[in-house]
Amino acid sequence: MKKKLLLFIGILIITLTLLAITKSTIFVESKLCVGCGDCVVVCPVDAIQIIDGKAVIDADVCIDCEICIRSCTYDAIRKNK
Ligand code: SF4
Ligand code: SF4
Repeated sequence: MKKKLLLFIGILIITLTLLAITKSTIFVESKLCVGCGDCVVVCPVDAIQIIDGKAVIDADVCIDCEICIRSCTYDAIRKNK
C-alpha cells in the first residue's frame, strides 16, 4: 500500500515537472473576460491574477493543466494548438 502511494506521488511529481518545463500556451481573450475570478480560485499554482478587471496568466508559472479553461463560463480562456 505504501509502495503504491510512493509510486503515485513519484508519477505525479514527474508529470507536474514535465508540464512545468513546457511553455504555457494558455491565454485569456481579454475582451471576453468579465473579471469574475472563477479561474483564479481553481488554478492550482496561483498563475492567474485579476489586473484592471481582467484575468492575466503568468506563463512562467502556468503548468498547462487547463482547469481554468473548464472553469470559465465566458469561454474567455483559450489554448494555442
Ligand atoms: S473565469 Fe473567465 S471571465 Fe472569469 S476572470 Fe477568469 S477568464 Fe475572466
Ligand atoms: S492552465 Fe492550469 S496552471 Fe495554467 S493558468 Fe490555467 S489553471 Fe492555472
